[in-house]
Amino acid sequence: MGRLFVVGLGPGAPELLTLEARAALERAEVIVGYHAYVDQVRCWRPGVAIRATPIGAERERAQEAVQLAAMGRTVALVSSGDAGVYGMAGLALEEWERVPAAQRPALTVVPGVTALLAAAALLGAPLGTDFAAISLSDLLVPWPSIVRRLEAAAAADFVLGLYNPASATRHWQLGAAVGILLQHRSPDTPVGVVRAAYRDGQRTAIVALGEVPAQPVDMLTILIVGNSHTRRCHDWLLTPRGYRSRPDEAASWVPG
Ligand code: SAH
Repeated sequence: MGRLFVVGLGPGAPELLTLEARAALERAEVIVGYHAYVDQVRCWRPGVAIRATPIGAERERAQEAVQLAAMGRTVALVSSGDAGVYGMAGLALEEWERVPAAQRPALTVVPGVTALLAAAALLGAPLGTDFAAISLSDLLVPWPSIVRRLEAAAAADFVLGLYNPASATRHWQLGAAVGILLQHRSPDTPVGVVRAAYRDGQRTAIVALGEVPAQPVDMLTILIVGNSHTRRCHDWLLTPRGYRSRPDEAASWVPG
């Protein structure tokens, strides 16, 4: 029987690829993915069959991976970061479900270090308490739904991870999102802006929320917006896990 591994490659550096992801790539007879991600892993598997597809062809990529696995091959479908976070895992599962039960390949989803966690590590400790991830891409989710989520998360004082802040064809969403956040948060709220985490050209900056619209962002950038307790700590960003100003909470705070 064929087997499909859906593999998160982490943010870019090979050191952040998990051992399980590496083992899946080593077992694969065919590696399917967007060409930039396939290039990341090509060096370890010289000679392995590669099916590199262009950006935007996600459905076709998932179909091809599932069909090859249904025909008996061992296939790795690769995604950056974690394959389940704005990645290929959902599409792969939808396509897998379409295959008649008798031919369905074994399926394994291998977790990866998502961009939010990679960026958080570069910034220090911004995710010490509850946080929400929101993608600003309105290609698959209508903008009014994104606005509703931004408003709710901002009002509830979540730390926010903003994926997909801009692309070659999307420029206005980040400014609009900041406008919404400023209705609930001070313009001084610290924000981490991380570009190309764990890749060539990595850049991190900590700026005030009010300064975010002037920052250069692209499709390789992620932002972490602090909540009302987040502060700068030297060159780092810190969201304390226990709010010491509230003795009742401090008393029940359990380290670990
Ligand atoms: N599955 C991926 C996310 C895909 S959505 C993951 O789990 O990380 C693509 C968005 O992720 C980008 O627009 C950017 O916001 C973020 N991203 C992916 N890799 C990144 C990196 N190395 N550095 C900073 N942001 C990154």
